[in-house]
Amino acid sequence: MTTELQRDLADIVRVSRELGGDPSLVLHGGGNTSIKTTGIDVTGAPVDLVLVKGSGWDLGTIEAPGFAPLRRDRLAELLSLAELDDVTMVNEMRQASLDAAAPTASIEALLHAYLPGKAVLHSHANAIVALTNSGLSDAEIVSVLGERVLVLPYIMPGFPLARLIADSDVSGVDAVVLRNHGLFTFADAADTALSRHRELVALADTHLGVSTWGNPGGTAPASGTVTELATLRRDVSRAAGTPMLVRQTRSARGAEFAARPGVAELTRRGTATPEHVIHTKRTPMIGRDVEAYAAEYRAYFERHAARVNPAVSPLHPAPRVVLDPELGLLVTGATTKELKIAGDIALHTLDVIDAADAIGTYGSLSEADSFDIEYWTLEQLKLAGKQAKPLGGEVAVVTGAASGIGRAIAELLLAQGAAVVGIDLNAAVTTLSDSDSWRGVTGDVSAPETIEAAVETAVREFGGVDMVVVAAGIFPPSQALAELDDEVWDRAFRVNVTAVARLFRAVHPVLALAPNGGRVVLVSTKNVAAPGPGVAAYSASKTAAAQLARVAALEWAADGIRVNQVEPDAVFDTAIWTPELLAARAANYGLSVEEYRTRNLLRTEVRSRTVAEAVVAFCERFPATTGAHLSVDGGNDRVI
Ligand code: ZN
Repeated sequence: MTTELQRDLADIVRVSRELGGDPSLVLHGGGNTSIKTTGIDVTGAPVDLVLVKGSGWDLGTIEAPGFAPLRRDRLAELLSLAELDDVTMVNEMRQASLDAAAPTASIEALLHAYLPGKAVLHSHANAIVALTNSGLSDAEIVSVLGERVLVLPYIMPGFPLARLIADSDVSGVDAVVLRNHGLFTFADAADTALSRHRELVALADTHLGVSTWGNPGGTAPASGTVTELATLRRDVSRAAGTPMLVRQTRSARGAEFAARPGVAELTRRGTATPEHVIHTKRTPMIGRDVEAYAAEYRAYFERHAARVNPAVSPLHPAPRVVLDPELGLLVTGATTKELKIAGDIALHTLDVIDAADAIGTYGSLSEADSFDIEYWTLEQLKLAGKQAKPLGGEVAVVTGAASGIGRAIAELLLAQGAAVVGIDLNAAVTTLSDSDSWRGVTGDVSAPETIEAAVETAVREFGGVDMVVVAAGIFPPSQALAELDDEVWDRAFRVNVTAVARLFRAVHPVLALAPNGGRVVLVSTKNVAAPGPGVAAYSASKTAAAQLARVAALEWAADGIRVNQVEPDAVFDTAIWTPELLAARAANYGLSVEEYRTRNLLRTEVRSRTVAEAVVAFCERFPATTGAHLSVDGGNDRVI
């Protein structure tokens, strides 16, 4: 690497992160940047390069390997063609790279190579798209932004846009505004291109009278019941053909917009910038009639299907953004990442609509142009590359999730793609994971308010409850029946049985709305089948819980809910089992710690993770099994 190349690369990484770190300019993977420099090829010859942002990298977090080093002379040759289809263009861009391992460059690479100026920055700045989407004429936009700006009409990104710019006169300008799309600035230094970008955005902000974009504006009340929200999620999932998460954003700004009369007309006019259609569809759903929205989406596909290859099938017709007068702004997605993206884009779009309407009349791409982006081969390829996880789009509630078996289950459910709400007495449950798919509720699992808080959280943050895992339980100190303490007995029943009954009662209405059928797994114990002396309170309470689960299996089969039990024994890799306690118990039986740990027929150690795998198997598989018991105890001759 030449020192020039190293310095230029460092510059463009730094400036890209500044641009990408401002959500009013760039949201979630939007925008692209480049810098022109000189490299050395394998023969030692100097080669003119343009380092272009790689597809799949986010500008806000991009690093040096995120840029593809492309040969400028080859890109110039490609741009001299009259036409170039997307797939061929991408193939050619990959071949133009000096590094075969570099990412595929942004589809705007030809444009970056062509534009004058060492550094080129492209964003979808809200203020710029609000100006162009307000219906201002080109001359009016120039009068707001100044003479050194060229305004071009909307055209499909990629090769057509690069050709349009190549055919335009860009001498004497250092910025290009693309109507209904965004802004390019270019200069002899990355920092200069960035300050020019900010200068133009500030001029637009001033003209619009807007100072902040995408502000959620405080927390709206938790409107609607959990059953109403879970019903909406079931309908969205049915339309999508797969379980979907739904989040009530609780944005006061979203709620205000959703409650406006005429909200359907306001939002029917399309996305702020073309690429948003991938994340939000062209229009939000107004109200809750998912079937009508899906029918409208199918009709839209049919109207434009002739524009795509007949082999292309329609994307799912479920909404990604919902504006409901009572429930406010809601978003849907297969993952919590998709929820976040749709939510951010929705809030920025509402502001762009209002800003454009304030100075003119908001308008966006035509439906046909929008369709071309939504069904663009390159975008479809990106979507096809995403691998869904087995429990993606589903929601689990796990009790006793802060430690031991409960924690192992919660972590495995998260790893399998589920969104998880963990309940535990220990406040550590709130920080168990920093994933947006995790929520912790601190409280006594036998307290109705704890259970209610967990169900509320699961439904408002993720849309419903598909899986309930009862892992919370207590193992009271050993006591012979003759010395049984009332307090110990009552507490064992309260936590091990009563809490489970209350949880079952509270969660049933939403569990019955699970799109793929609800699943309940009770972490039971070997003691149900094979009790031991001195553990009356534990064995009796866990047996009552097991019976409760059997009744649930009977009562809830009609709702498609499967209720199964996992029966572990002697799981020692939990917080209760300190090395000292383990040594003491082993000595009590005259065994070594190792012998004590593996005191079962298979002579194997039963780990929390192994128990979690059995629980998750009941969640993921066995669609025809309910009321089953699965031992995870290394084999026990009293049970077999
Ligand atoms: Zn763009």
